[in-house]
Amino acid sequence: MGKVTGFLEIDRRDRKYAPASDRIRHYREFVIPLGEEGTREQAARCMNCGIPYCHNGCPVNNQIPDWNDLVYNGDWQEALRNLQSTNNFPEFTGRVCPAPCEAACTLNLEDAPVTIKTIECAIADRGWQEGWIVPEPPERQTGKRVAVIGSGPAGLAAAQQLARVGHEVHVFEKHARAGGLLRYGIPDFKMEKSHIDRRIRQMEAEGVVFHYGAHVGVTMPAKELLDAYDAVLLAGGAEKPRDLDIEGRDLKGIHFAMDFLPQQNRRVSGENTDVTDPILASGKHVVVIGGGDTGSDCIGTSIRQGALSVTQLEIMPMPPERENKLVTWPYWPLKLRTSSSHEEGAEREFSVMTTRFSGRDGKVTRLHCVRVDSSFKPIPGTEFELKADLVLLAMGFIHPVHEGMLKELGLDLDPRGNVKADTRSYRSSIDKVFAAGDMRRGQSLVVWAIREGRQAARAIDEYLMGSSVLPR
Ligand SMILES: Cc1cc2nc3c(=O)[nH]c(=O)nc-3n(C[C@H](O)[C@H](O)[C@H](O)COP(=O)(O)OP(=O)(O)OC[C@H]3O[C@@H](n4cnc5c(N)ncnc54)[C@H](O)[C@@H]3O)c2cc1C
Ligand code: SF4
Repeated sequence: MGKVTGFLEIDRRDRKYAPASDRIRHYREFVIPLGEEGTREQAARCMNCGIPYCHNGCPVNNQIPDWNDLVYNGDWQEALRNLQSTNNFPEFTGRVCPAPCEAACTLNLEDAPVTIKTIECAIADRGWQEGWIVPEPPERQTGKRVAVIGSGPAGLAAAQQLARVGHEVHVFEKHARAGGLLRYGIPDFKMEKSHIDRRIRQMEAEGVVFHYGAHVGVTMPAKELLDAYDAVLLAGGAEKPRDLDIEGRDLKGIHFAMDFLPQQNRRVSGENTDVTDPILASGKHVVVIGGGDTGSDCIGTSIRQGALSVTQLEIMPMPPERENKLVTWPYWPLKLRTSSSHEEGAEREFSVMTTRFSGRDGKVTRLHCVRVDSSFKPIPGTEFELKADLVLLAMGFIHPVHEGMLKELGLDLDPRGNVKADTRSYRSSIDKVFAAGDMRRGQSLVVWAIREGRQAARAIDEYLMGSSVLPR
């Protein structure tokens, strides 16, 4: 513990955002780093608790108090070594993780947790700037071949771990570039894609081979991979979106969030920009149905495209602004969360159900809504209408896509429709086929995908070699 009285003397201070009026003019990141001194000062606030709840709150079990101490003492390189021993991609989580570690921090009992995510991001960014993050190729090859299907954070973390212990790893990705939802879902203003490109170059230098445009179960049979590889990891995410099957759903102008967001990400990166029927919010009244992260990303993107208005509807009641710490701590509390995108100018409505869409000339123009009580029953007399030229459905994902790869393989699914595999062996119902990330656990977070990718890599290594030096 660097500074024993740090938490008493230093107030919590976190990264600030560039003003909304500036940042909505572009798609770049807008979080302003604290700088070296500011970050060291914040790291000094860590109390190095006897039981570090943050460590458990973090799904990859980052050794947070240890690297806080190292940062406070100016040993950034050792902090990076420590951080990378538990997290393959701390510059991703340092940008997009909701930071359950901070909810679990003891100082959160006073509403002033250590700025753990900011410190994590600073360590990783410094590592790249200084050239400390380099390829770590294996000393020897095992002669075993592993196919990883899907290049989201789960697939990437698994591939990197497996390549580093000497397996020949091939990643099969249906899209033109790697990253999964990091690349095509999460907008550039939350995480610029150069962070992924850099990691892919590192992984290629470590021996990982990427095959793009390879849609397993669609453009190539999954069976081919089973025959050619010693183990196969399914890390294809949970891509089946929840639909809203109500009157007027077939009108033009109603789209899933994941039809809209990838188009903008591709536009920013210059990939495949000649879409025949682009979905754009410019000059439109936009309604986003669904109150989560994906909904927020639709808001920020719509505002940057020049929407006339953006309204977000959520069927759940408005959560409390502050949680009761004595009931919730150290767990992730249900409370009102206002994202940077909300601050950019969206209206938010809670306890609202959409009953039908209506339109003119086959295009949506209105949403018909009603307020609901706590058991989602419509409250008579509360019906209202909203103008809408573009409706974005962001109500989450129900499970992985079953058609194609999963049907071809005939794998057992769990009751929620995800690939059935436990979190020790990560083995599916078919020999030598493993599953990790959203494909196994259902829609989740980047940090959970990294954890599962790492743990599945260890399970695969054990399966192939009888034992493993990889951490769990
Ligand atoms: C819009 C949006 C915003 C989000 N924002 C955040 C956030 O801010 N923070 C956070 O922590 N989480 C966020 N999430 C959730 C997070 O992105 C996911 O939980 C995480 O990416 C899951 O990782 P994964 O590797 O399991 O799957 P994915 O990231 O979904 O990657 C799966 C990959 O597999 C590929 N694939 C699928 N099937 C096949 C096949 N048959 N053949 C070849 N390739 C295939 C896909 O193309 C994709 O590249 C967000 C999700 C969305 C949709
Ligand atoms: S990965 Fe997420 S939970 Fe873990 S330390 Fe980083 S911000 Fe916290």
